[in-house]
Amino acid sequence: MELAYSKKNGFSELESSEKEKVFEFCEGYRKFITKAKTEREFCEEAYQALERAGFVPLESIGSLKAGDKVYTVNRGKGIFAAVIGKKPLKDGINLVGAHIDSPRLDLKPNPLYEDNGIAFFKTHYYGGIKKFHWLTIPLTIHGVIVKKDGTQIKVNIGEDENDPIFCISDILPHLGQEQAKKPLGEAISGESLNIILGNIEADDAEKDKVKYNILKYLNEKYDITEADLLSSEIEVVPAFEARDLGFDRSMIAGYGQDDRVCAYTALQAVIDMGVPEKTSVCLLVDKEEIGSMGCTGMQSRYFENVLAKLCMLKEKETSDFYLREVLSNSQCLSADVGAAFDPNFPETCEKNNTAYINNGLLITKYTGSRGKSGASDAGAEFVAKIRNIFEENGVNWQIGELGKVDGGGGGTIAQFVANLDMDVIDCGVALLSMHSPYEIAGKADIYMAYKGYKAFFEN
Ligand code: MN
Ligand code: MN
Repeated sequence: MELAYSKKNGFSELESSEKEKVFEFCEGYRKFITKAKTEREFCEEAYQALERAGFVPLESIGSLKAGDKVYTVNRGKGIFAAVIGKKPLKDGINLVGAHIDSPRLDLKPNPLYEDNGIAFFKTHYYGGIKKFHWLTIPLTIHGVIVKKDGTQIKVNIGEDENDPIFCISDILPHLGQEQAKKPLGEAISGESLNIILGNIEADDAEKDKVKYNILKYLNEKYDITEADLLSSEIEVVPAFEARDLGFDRSMIAGYGQDDRVCAYTALQAVIDMGVPEKTSVCLLVDKEEIGSMGCTGMQSRYFENVLAKLCMLKEKETSDFYLREVLSNSQCLSADVGAAFDPNFPETCEKNNTAYINNGLLITKYTGSRGKSGASDAGAEFVAKIRNIFEENGVNWQIGELGKVDGGGGGTIAQFVANLDMDVIDCGVALLSMHSPYEIAGKADIYMAYKGYKAFFEN
């Protein structure tokens, strides 16, 4: 029996055969997140992966039994995937919930304008960003434009090596003396995050000739007019592909790992399930970065509605009472990232209660800020249960807080799951540079997230 508790680097805890699996698994992850940079793209890649694994659309079937694998898509921006268990639903389900939206720049509804011979898109940032990160990096444009008749046009420009990319300019240091005096949070205004689009004038335009030339291009390529942009959802994200980081390739650098690292690992876990005792559900939601609002966010009744449908299809139970019983007996891992200790900025963390990169899957008992304000604080009984599942199944894990007391804070979907009367705890991968355009995750942690979520489903 070890009296003192201590944590080692997760790579040194791995058997050599498992080390290979870590690198192989992370290569799949790296490719996936390079392709899936927005919630809509993640959703599309995810349901294709589910279909390849034998999952069928929930809408296509009339009844459910143990071993059935089903999924349903929420408005193109979220997914509910389930493997039906042997036990009745009222014994509870095992839920792993992650979010697939990430901080980014959205186009404003009326984005296109010209200023002094340069055409721009105006943006409205989404989620918590440090604005200066988004200047002078290559950007790509993703999303949908929906015409009045409902025709949906997909947009994805900048990912192909033959595509152009886009960019936001910054002041040259020679003339940046006033800017340099400002606090970091005030140096760049939200209204200056304008994307450069072009500089060639259209011959046949009377005014705003560069803007008109861009409109001609958009009309030719997408068959749209400027008014069609009013009903679009276009997201601007970094052009970077996810890459191995370090001589030893122990980490992955990439955009949007909050929270696609947990979403991908949760998805793979549900895909690799056998027939579980309790129904396993992987729920991928949108809008976490802006408070889980809206009909695709965790605060929506969507999850309960789909669960009610499972009750009807599996057990012919249609009462609200039955659904409430299912929820009360269910448990959840809120699969979201945490902050890893950064030796460059040690002052932000308390070293005994922080996560370290590649030290294992991170459990965060509570988030919140100041005196745990806004936290869903998991009960000791539930922490013990999860700890036991992980240790019985060879899952390397660690526990940590999000930074020092009074250092700041944050929240996840855990509080909204808890409102449904479910036991829930935050459990995910610890990142460096979270919410930056190029976040860093440890490969041993990514693999342990997969292993941990799978073990949770199976127990
Ligand atoms: Mn997150
Ligand atoms: Mn986040």
